[in-house]
Amino acid sequence: MVVGVHRPTQLVIDRQALHDNIQAEVTRLASGCELFMVVKANGYGHGAVQVAQVAKEAGATGFCVAILDEALELRAAGFNEPILVLGVTEPEDAPLMARQHISATVAATDWLVAADAYLALAQPTAPLQVHLGLDTGMGRIGFKTTAELTTAVTYLATHATLNFEGIFTHFATADSPDETYFKQQVAKWQALTAVLKKRPRYVHVSNSATSLWHAACNDNMVRFGVAGYGLNPSGTAIPAPYALKPALSLTSQLVHSKQVVAGESVGYGATYTAQQTEWVGTVPIGYADGYERRLQGFHVLVDGQVCEIIGRVCMDQLMIRLPHDFARGTRVTLIGRDGDHVITLQEMADYCQTIHYELACGFTSRLPRVYRH
Ligand SMILES: *Cc1c(COP(=O)(O)O)cnc(C)c1O
Repeated sequence: MVVGVHRPTQLVIDRQALHDNIQAEVTRLASGCELFMVVKANGYGHGAVQVAQVAKEAGATGFCVAILDEALELRAAGFNEPILVLGVTEPEDAPLMARQHISATVAATDWLVAADAYLALAQPTAPLQVHLGLDTGMGRIGFKTTAELTTAVTYLATHATLNFEGIFTHFATADSPDETYFKQQVAKWQALTAVLKKRPRYVHVSNSATSLWHAACNDNMVRFGVAGYGLNPSGTAIPAPYALKPALSLTSQLVHSKQVVAGESVGYGATYTAQQTEWVGTVPIGYADGYERRLQGFHVLVDGQVCEIIGRVCMDQLMIRLPHDFARGTRVTLIGRDGDHVITLQEMADYCQTIHYELACGFTSRLPRVYRH
């Protein structure tokens, strides 16, 4: 997709905010505990390479991504830190990962057997670094029993193509005030890992929520994601131990303004009809940019004033009701602060009945990412 550089609509990423959030967490960690910044999905929409750079400056010592291509992007950008792919990769890519020093998440011994065959053929100079994933209740990927885990650990110990670098699990409810399920997962984690005769280099269980609210579980590495971007993983359920600074703003400009009279309608389906004479402005952003169609009735800031989105959000444009005429080129803030008002991704997510994670990584590549500070 082309990047819309000739349109006045952009995501603005505040590097200082990213830095402050990540550094605040690094400072809180027990000594010997490392922070790997999670930059999957293009850094939750913020730009993976740029976020990785700031994270490194703020004290992150490694990165986590979801898919191999995201790890390769970081390597191509020159990062030499450890990178863990959190999702299941293809065993045929094991030699590529070994050569690039990219660590694989492994969830089944048959994966190791298949990868070993490819590694034995390709003979990369280094073994493949393996993190065993344990399914303690997330129900997504990982070993579930001590028998399965023991088989995998034995296989790793007896195959020089593979190195047992890490072991981890992932919590389903670390962002919830109710700790019942979380405690069940901790108990399963402890029971499973009790069979290990030797600890690997990295032992890790914490996403942002776990590190923020259950830091005693952290062990020697945390996979820090959403909170680094300044977003509270619980939404509004649990306050963060320090002020999280949202790093992302979304700004545009009015490209058109006009008066409509009572009875005139706006947008597809003519779902909005003016009851009186009013000013209507047009903003060049739509659902093709990841600005959800469900946001009809939500609001934006025009020169710091709250204005309602009227009519359906189109693919590339949306219309708003203005308190009076504004000049073409007037600043429009869709996410962020202008004067006394602020619109947060959290408010938008609440309005859309989803979570800020989904909106942040839903912004498409048509929106330029501009970096400040
Ligand atoms: C995405 C992810 C994380 C980061 O989660 P946040 O809630 O963004 O901190 C950590 N671990 C795993 C396995 C993940 O998939």
